[in-house]
Amino acid sequence: GAQLAPKLQELDPSKLKITLSEHLQPLPELSTLQFGEKHSDHILVASFDPKTGWSDPEIRPYGKIELDPMSSALQYGTNCFEGMKAYLSPTGTPLLFRPQRNMARLASSVHRLALPPFSPFALLTLIKKLVVIEKRWIPSESGYSLYVRPTVIGTRNHLGVKESDSALIYVMCSPTGPYFPLARGLGVPEGYIKPVNLLAVSSHVRAWPGGTGGHKLAVNYSPGFLPMTHAMKQGWDQILWLRGDTVMEVGAMNFFICVTRDDGDIDLITPPLDGTILPGVTRASIMEIARAHSASLSTSSTSGATLNGVASRLHVSETELSLSTLIQWSRQGKLIEAFGVGTAAILAPVGIIGFEGAESELPSTSAEPTLTEETTSTATNTTNGTHASGGIDPP
Ligand code: PMP
Repeated sequence: GAQLAPKLQELDPSKLKITLSEHLQPLPELSTLQFGEKHSDHILVASFDPKTGWSDPEIRPYGKIELDPMSSALQYGTNCFEGMKAYLSPTGTPLLFRPQRNMARLASSVHRLALPPFSPFALLTLIKKLVVIEKRWIPSESGYSLYVRPTVIGTRNHLGVKESDSALIYVMCSPTGPYFPLARGLGVPEGYIKPVNLLAVSSHVRAWPGGTGGHKLAVNYSPGFLPMTHAMKQGWDQILWLRGDTVMEVGAMNFFICVTRDDGDIDLITPPLDGTILPGVTRASIMEIARAHSASLSTSSTSGATLNGVASRLHVSETELSLSTLIQWSRQGKLIEAFGVGTAAILAPVGIIGFEGAESELPSTSAEPTLTEETTSTATNTTNGTHASGGIDPP
């Protein structure tokens, strides 16, 4: 008769094996910390075999992983990842910032690469265990956090051009501080974030309709390194990615602008999620904060809610934005500020945008940052986080 296929094992947190490191590293000096440079003591690993399913997950001392030279990830870039942050609550409890959203995005990236699926809930449960074990690595200083980097790669060891039916999940942790140095001098108040200067690039394109820009795939990043190197050699901090004249993202951040309206309100504009834009967790959070701000202005007669003194209603709009419109608004004095948002940098105000040999200075270099600063402190407020400690389940 027909043979029943053996049931594949699911990714199962109850089967977690923990081997603690016997050689814990000294914690780094925070003032010298560079993004992504240091790793914590442990790594979380699970592998998928097409015959048996997911292996028992393991937390073990951080160390090298062995891959067959023919591995799909090494040959065909079947590699996707996430970036999320753990903070300590005022009472010292580890918190993850909206991690369900990162898990959902990772599952969607895995699907896009035709890699074996995993349970996002199971992976989050495992990540919480890792973060609790690595608690001493979570800095309590403001502006610092433990960056968590879940990764899924295809491990099929066969040169045939085909989806990978085996995979490896691994999760690393890296203590991190402010992505961009705080401003000292430069006409920006002490302690404020130094604005980033952008080179608008359309000769190289990050993402296009039908492409993979809406997923967090490794193959979206490496082709940007060459144009990025060129831009940095010319003194720019980041690239403003364009498609034709259409503004997409800033480096690895989503892009926002604030524009004054004739009625005194403010339009907060970001490009729509049309498949070419990464659906950022910070982007979604900023939009929610702005909408809540406007809602509180509508309901409170005292207008108590201000964003750094901004009592204007913010109209959030996901609208296609062209560079020429942006420059026109800037010249008309309507552009209040522009900024990039993402997990690593959180919020980065934009100073100058360079394009085709010309430069357009945005108001945020000369004026004190307005919305950017206030939203930074709100977005990093850990009350929105999920407890990483054992018993509390995400909603
Ligand atoms: N765009 C790109 C291309 C990114 O790599 C990131 C970082 N993940 C973002 C935007 C911001 O997304 P998030 O707020 O989820 O970090």
